[in-house]
Amino acid sequence: MNVMDWKEYHERMKEEAPLVIHYPICGGGDECIYVCPFSDRIWEVVPMKVSLFGVRYKVRLRPFMAYPENCKRCYICVQACPTGALQPVEKSVKHPAITLFYSTLRLPFKKRYGLRFVFRKEHAERFKCNNWPERYSF
Ligand code: SF4
Repeated sequence: MNVMDWKEYHERMKEEAPLVIHYPICGGGDECIYVCPFSDRIWEVVPMKVSLFGVRYKVRLRPFMAYPENCKRCYICVQACPTGALQPVEKSVKHPAITLFYSTLRLPFKKRYGLRFVFRKEHAERFKCNNWPERYSF
């Protein structure tokens, strides 16, 4: 299977979508897709070569805005992203390590999309399935 590098998807979103994902700090829990009111008409989960927080570059499954024209720019998905990887395109991640560190510190204090949200069963399952697709499928 010919799988593209994360940078290809990153560039495509940057050019065509109102949001962009810095994939090396995306955890793969699909929180963005769960909260998007129009997820079926916007998002797909695609295989790409990427590391998980800088560890082990390999094929993982990650969210991609396949139909950005349907996005309403409500930014609920940005609020729900636990790592800060997903941002409006004009605020794309410049310093990944600092963004990840800051977002992780903030997580226990977020009211709506804090730790309890991130550790919900469906996100934990997606995390496993998306990061180790060769081992898990749900
Ligand atoms: S900004 Fe709103 S409509 Fe657009 S992808 Fe995010 S949650 Fe969905």
